[in-house]
Amino acid sequence: METKKATEAATKKIPVFINGRAFESTARRWGPVYNPATGQETHRVPLGGAEDVASAVAAARAAFPAWRATSLARRTAIMFQIRQQLADHQEDLARTVTREHGKVLADAMGEVARGLENVEFACGIPQLLKGEYTEQASTDVDVYSIRQPLGVVAGVTPFNFPAMVPLWMLSNAIAAGNTFVLKPSEKDPSASVLLATLLSEAGLPPGVFNVVHGDREAVEALAAHPDVSAVSVVGSTPVARAIRRAAVAADKRVQALGGAKNHLVVLADADVEAAADGAVSAAFGSAGERCMAVSVVVAVDDIADALVAAIVARTRALRIGDGLDPASDMGPLVTREHRDRVAGYIEAGRRDGAAVVVDGREAPACEGPGFFLGATLLDHVTPSMACYRDEIFGPVLCVVRVHTLDDALALVNDSPWGNGVALYTRDGGAARRFQFEVLCGMVGINVPIPVPVGYHSFGGWKASLFGDTHIYGPDGVNFYTRRKVVTSRWPRAAADGVDLRFPGSE
Ligand code: NAD
Repeated sequence: METKKATEAATKKIPVFINGRAFESTARRWGPVYNPATGQETHRVPLGGAEDVASAVAAARAAFPAWRATSLARRTAIMFQIRQQLADHQEDLARTVTREHGKVLADAMGEVARGLENVEFACGIPQLLKGEYTEQASTDVDVYSIRQPLGVVAGVTPFNFPAMVPLWMLSNAIAAGNTFVLKPSEKDPSASVLLATLLSEAGLPPGVFNVVHGDREAVEALAAHPDVSAVSVVGSTPVARAIRRAAVAADKRVQALGGAKNHLVVLADADVEAAADGAVSAAFGSAGERCMAVSVVVAVDDIADALVAAIVARTRALRIGDGLDPASDMGPLVTREHRDRVAGYIEAGRRDGAAVVVDGREAPACEGPGFFLGATLLDHVTPSMACYRDEIFGPVLCVVRVHTLDDALALVNDSPWGNGVALYTRDGGAARRFQFEVLCGMVGINVPIPVPVGYHSFGGWKASLFGDTHIYGPDGVNFYTRRKVVTSRWPRAAADGVDLRFPGSE
């Protein structure tokens, strides 16, 4: 009976969602989707190319004129309904995320909650689209700026936040009057189909939000499609960079967020217990598969030994298991290949001379069929080691020991990445200097994961972001709208006569 059920599940095909309907893709290529906690293939995902993309873009294009013309009052009312619908189904979404991504349910619930913040922000879109008005800029002439939607916009999202990152994009995009085509990660695509279904049930008209699946082929088709006006991409640095290039070459507006390697600096005066709590939570939450995960602790001066001891105690106490088991602190990695790649960095660290203080490969869960790897701590890491240089994106925390705040700042500022950074200290002056000098897009002072709230914008510096636009919040509204400036005069009784001079202010 169990085997029969498993076989049925294995043949389940993930649908595309186009024009308000979920249906089977005609794609020739299909790929596996796993439950990483069991190692079982649970679904097949279409790796559709240009055909699915063409029908999704056509649906979005057809839906755009009516959606754009829908009153702000009505669009806002629908955003409120979407907010309620997602809140009512928060746990369904979270369970869907856990089943395909592996993160523990509490973490997945948090992901959906952070995504909801973006919907809540977009419920205030009338305030953000108000524009500016200058009366009597010239005699009897008024000038006003308005913001209008772009048309069909596309999003390409990573595996690690299958609900939140799509919500980063789609909330402002559709509230502003655009129509949207999402290409989620092929590793955990079910959450986006559920999102599309919930949006549709909340009253979003057909064609306003569409989901296609696939890999490079689908993304390239989206980036090149002449009816797509803008592309948002969140992913690893090489992929974000390549998609940005392709979309810019096709004259599109692009928002591109890349990978990361985030430091947590602990000064000698810091509260060791609080810093260790922050480091372990930020390093091993979601098994380190977060772009804002802390992957390097920089221990300054003589705090290092006490700090490492406090981190080790907490790391050893972590319970590794199925994310749907409430007893688990940390779930598996997303695929077997990714787990093996991350484990390879533990071995490389050992070979390069780092001390493997806690070795996640020894966790009992690693013996099962799931894609588990325990939390790992590497001490005495130096900047030349691969485990320091590369984005590992797994539960491996490196400790680099330095002498001074200057050394710590130099280390962080020399890093090619610049997504997030955190500082633990009780010294306000040191914190102020750190904030002033550090070359990084998001800074936490005694806060380990400084993801901005939905009414600010999210984005890194250096190799963590391409172009100048951050994502969601005010930057998101600007990205998904373009400015139009109107200069108007309503004639009084007499015309003014022809005047060939360049118009000025009189
Ligand atoms: P990825 O780069 O492998 O994939 C991202 C998306 O691009 C997916 O939808 C994927 O299907 C598509 N893609 C993959 N290869 C492609 C190619 N050659 N051409 C075109 N499209 C391609 O990233 P991932 O492994 O899914 O996600 C993890 C990465 O995302 C990490 O590097 C992480 O730091 C980064 N990330 C960054 C942020 C941020 O805000 N800066 C947030 C989340 C994740």
